[in-house]
Amino acid sequence: MIATTGKTNLLGLTQPEMEKFFDSIGEKRFRAGQVMKWIHHFGVDDFDAMTNVSKALRDKLKAIAEVRGPEVVSEDISSDGTRKWVVRVESGSCVETVYIPSGKRGTLCVSSQAGCALDCSFCSTGKQGFNSNLTAAEVIGQVWIANKSFGSVPATIDRAITNVVMMGMGEPLLNFDNVISAMHLMMDDLGYGISKRRVTLSTSGVVPMIDELAKHIDVSLALSLHAPNDALRSQLVPINKKYPLAMLLDSCRRYMATLGEKRVLTVEYTLLKDVNDHVDHAREMIELLKDTPCKINLIPFNPFPHSGYERPSNNAIRRFQELLQQDGYNVTVRTTRGEDIDAACGQLVGQVNDRTRRSSRLIAARELSADADTAQNAASAP
Ligand code: SAH
Ligand code: SF4
Repeated sequence: MIATTGKTNLLGLTQPEMEKFFDSIGEKRFRAGQVMKWIHHFGVDDFDAMTNVSKALRDKLKAIAEVRGPEVVSEDISSDGTRKWVVRVESGSCVETVYIPSGKRGTLCVSSQAGCALDCSFCSTGKQGFNSNLTAAEVIGQVWIANKSFGSVPATIDRAITNVVMMGMGEPLLNFDNVISAMHLMMDDLGYGISKRRVTLSTSGVVPMIDELAKHIDVSLALSLHAPNDALRSQLVPINKKYPLAMLLDSCRRYMATLGEKRVLTVEYTLLKDVNDHVDHAREMIELLKDTPCKINLIPFNPFPHSGYERPSNNAIRRFQELLQQDGYNVTVRTTRGEDIDAACGQLVGQVNDRTRRSSRLIAARELSADADTAQNAASAP
């Protein structure tokens, strides 16, 4: 992609794109692999540090290309190991990236857009409206920045980031091409070498793009369900009016079928007090999902000012979980991490200086990712 500097930013280029780039400047294609390793395995952004590249080519690259991630505005490390970065993207907005260690796993929660147009009623990102799509370099740049903070070792050695979830700000399926390119880089051995099972895209249900996804990639899928019937879901997740539940679950089943392995859909359900947390909702959910193999992640609502919603009591959360478990579902409940650095309450977003502003969505995403890991580990749970 051409950055505002007029130089080609190599950070977001997939292997085929990088080969094309070297072709286009009259260089051999194998240079693509060399340069990608420097960028992604070693976190290098200075062409002069690429010692197996000739001086002449390095000079040529310096004149026409760059390796530029989003600007890091802040990096915080929690006492529990959780890390949070606030990065500024080209549009001027800020987004968050959160890293959650959990046993041998380390999950990175990545943003795809600044703001979001879909306006889910309980999501503070949605309340901000849409600001901009992140470029592929800005999406993979979040992984690049996080990876560098762990010492820029080759991705195959003792990697700190074992999982990536597209559960930060934004609806990843509405920034399709850039998110696909970035997810390819996450999985590519010349990129971060993360298994396709450990890269998860979360969507609120953009049906045509779920079908499109299957044509391009085979990452894991998480569906933000949040309600067991169309009437309630249309209130909470407005895109449901366009793509109602029957259509949505069909598309998820189609996508999962293309994976052709024992991989199951993750269903995310944000629990809102007296809105979607009743026993009847759990029963309805059991009926709704009976033909859709899945594991369920319950996310107790993370409050933010003027949201109009509350988090249910622990008893209500447990009751909801038990009802689903009694029917044989693998059900996890989000726990909170990184509170001392406000990763737990997901500060921000878009207004870095307003430390009182809270983006509960980010927290949710972060907690989600931690629990997604737990869920994967707890395969034998009911
Ligand atoms: N747009 C995508 C991915 C980002 S949102 C999606 O909606 O799936 C990541 C998750 O956080 C979603 O499941 C979302 O519903 C949830 N979430 C948003 N706001 C929340 C809040 N205030 N409390 C708990 N979970 C929230
Ligand atoms: Fe957008 Fe997801 Fe928030 Fe809905 S929950 S407004 S889709 S970021």
